[in-house]
Amino acid sequence: MKLKPLLSILLIYLVTATYAQDFEKVNITTTKLTAHIYMLQGAGGNIGVSIGEDGIFIIDDQFAPLSKKILAAIKKLSNKPFKFLVNTHYHGDHTGGNENMTKAGATIIAHDNVKKRLSKPQRNGTLKPKDALPVITFNDKLNITINGESILVFHVANAHTDGDVMLYFTKSNVLHTGDTYFSKRYPYIDVYSGGSVHGFIEATKRALLFIDDDTKIIPGHGELSNKEEYKSYLNMLETLRNNIQTAIDMGKTEAEIKADVSLTKIYDDLGYSIGLNSAEIRVNFYRSLVKK
Ligand SMILES: [Zn+2]
Repeated sequence: MKLKPLLSILLIYLVTATYAQDFEKVNITTTKLTAHIYMLQGAGGNIGVSIGEDGIFIIDDQFAPLSKKILAAIKKLSNKPFKFLVNTHYHGDHTGGNENMTKAGATIIAHDNVKKRLSKPQRNGTLKPKDALPVITFNDKLNITINGESILVFHVANAHTDGDVMLYFTKSNVLHTGDTYFSKRYPYIDVYSGGSVHGFIEATKRALLFIDDDTKIIPGHGELSNKEEYKSYLNMLETLRNNIQTAIDMGKTEAEIKADVSLTKIYDDLGYSIGLNSAEIRVNFYRSLVKK
């Protein structure tokens, strides 16, 4: 099987960012966004939480070893029963705690492709237990009414993966983007799991239709964000797409594009290369854009 260097880089990044720092030492921080919506951060994807009279609703759950701490942080906010958990996509830094959350009472909801991917034999050949899998899946969009508002959960096709959803809290005016947005850093497009530059850009444009200047945006990774930053991010995606597509049209090879700093320079200078570095993002875009 062909090696997948970018994926390995991502995994090394995730592993060094999590296992190596020792889950014992990870603190879960809670940020209050509105009267009943919170963002939890620890290691892995940002978690969204809605609490209220109906119970607890959460978005993503980081890694299994952090579940106890995550549940303790939620308990501080509310003693109500756990209702639903939505997985924004299948990656392990967003779904690692699924089994524990089911045991805590949550019903897991996700896109059809998340369930498909989580149901496949894992890297070590084992199958995930039933409790780690979504119970309710959907293909396009769904509405969840909980804690006094309707939450629009919508699929964005072939963006970060082939199973991404974004969530918009219609009254609270909060958007959770999953990994279709990393605030102030380059994205990662998982082309080996159905992600694409084109879908990523379309996803960002679609979310922009819902939000306004007051929207609070919970990104997949990075700090709480807003519409202005989100628009700059779209600009960055389109600029990189145009630059790299032009280079491809000129007949440039992957190695040449990887070496050509000018293609990403303005955003490198703005400090975007925190997750994927500048060479990696050029290769990531190249591989998506040449993929048929
Ligand atoms: Zn991801």
